[in-house]
Amino acid sequence: MKIKFCTQCGSTTELKVPVDDNFERYVCTNCAHTHYLNPRIVCGCIVYKEDKVLLCKRAIKPRMGLWTVPAGFMENGETTRNAAARETQEEANINITTGKLFSISNLPHANQVYFLYLADLGDKSYSVTPESSEIALFSKDDIPWDEIAFHTVKSSLTKYFEGLEDNHESKKNFKLHEVDF
Ligand SMILES: [Zn+2]
Repeated sequence: MKIKFCTQCGSTTELKVPVDDNFERYVCTNCAHTHYLNPRIVCGCIVYKEDKVLLCKRAIKPRMGLWTVPAGFMENGETTRNAAARETQEEANINITTGKLFSISNLPHANQVYFLYLADLGDKSYSVTPESSEIALFSKDDIPWDEIAFHTVKSSLTKYFEGLEDNHESKKNFKLHEVDF
């Protein structure tokens, strides 16, 4: 990402390492305001019901028409857990209670970090939203593995089902997965 103009005064910026810094930043040529660019945090839920997980077909860009778990960018003022629940509400219309943190995935090439929580659907209902054109529960063998929108989501789902096979009856035994892409 490039910041061409200063967010404070509108003048042009230049890319340089500010004094007492170790990274290149976009610094204003007029007022010297320094613009920091940091990773974005994506939060979401692996919503499960018995041996199935809930996937949403994306009605929005990017990767429109492909499947993913409910997830999206964290907002200022939120916790990761709150963000995961809000995204699940926005994308699948579920008032979910989040459980254990399942995975932290680092995507340094995309400047993103993913936090995915486990969440039991129970008897709650779900429905399509402006962000999801279709929502369904899939068992491992029914998942459209070739139509998963994001590599990191596919990886976490794979680990989830591997864990299910190892743990069988209890999801309490899931360990936290840290994955670097
Ligand atoms: Zn400026």
